Amino acid sequence: MRSPILDYLDAIFEGTAHVTSGATADYIPDLAAADPDRAAVALCTVNGTVYASGDADHRFSIQSMSKPFAYALALEEHGVARVLEHVGVEPSGEAFNELSLDRETGRPLNPMINAGAIATHALVAQDEDDGVDRVLRFFSTLTGRDVEVDESVAASEMSTASRNLGLAYLLEATGGLARHPRAAVEGYVRQCAASVDVRDLALMAATLANGGVQPQTGEQVVCRETTRQVLSVMASCGMYDAAGDWFTAVGIPAKSGVAGGIIGVLPGQVGLAVFSPRLDAHGNSARGVAMMERMSDDMGLHLMEAG
Ligand code: GLU
Repeated sequence: MRSPILDYLDAIFEGTAHVTSGATADYIPDLAAADPDRAAVALCTVNGTVYASGDADHRFSIQSMSKPFAYALALEEHGVARVLEHVGVEPSGEAFNELSLDRETGRPLNPMINAGAIATHALVAQDEDDGVDRVLRFFSTLTGRDVEVDESVAASEMSTASRNLGLAYLLEATGGLARHPRAAVEGYVRQCAASVDVRDLALMAATLANGGVQPQTGEQVVCRETTRQVLSVMASCGMYDAAGDWFTAVGIPAKSGVAGGIIGVLPGQVGLAVFSPRLDAHGNSARGVAMMERMSDDMGLHLMEAG
């Protein structure tokens, strides 16, 4: 029998088809050329059952949704205290690619903006030969399949990476980068070009919802302390300069990416993932935000709502 959850996701997909505002990311040529009408939504329970609707098999680059997972890996490898020496946990209130570092410490404000994500990537990928592979292996453990880099997207982003290179050199100057700036950006860009679909993302999100246990394999992929740290940072910093709007309207930890994906995590309950490439002024998927808002309303997901 067809699950009512699938009917519900179909309704979310169809009920947001009218949201055609925004535009594909324009600063990465490959993303600018994405088909703007593709869209998908997926939900994964903490039992590991995945439901999806729309272009659920369509793969796209993970982009900034890689950041919480790379942060989790850094925390697992180095511990919270050492990671905090490199990257803070304060919301920046600024755009994702802002050239900003904390005035007193010289650290990036948080691991969800590019400066912090480049510093985080450098922490997990200090070893030249194995850096990106380690991140990809981790994504593969989370999704249960071999995740690969979309080489075309990676090359496309590297061709316009001056701003991220500038950030990395700034980090090196303040002593906050564990790798050579160019290598750190090349690795970070490859991390962001990992190719996933909404099912993969819902499962990754569900692993965070499930206290760090991948719900299909039962493997404790990251410890509870790491999971709590990652979700806290996603809640306060995951949606760039729209983090406050997002948390009041949707009310769950989340992370968006410039290819049009958004993941959301309701601890103890579900992982959600949506995809639609047209972005709003903050760089978040416009239809994706609409899908998430509806699901939060319908299912009463907001963390600040009692009962
Ligand atoms: N790779 C992208 C960049 O560094 C990620 C940004 C995003 O997804 O928000 O510009």
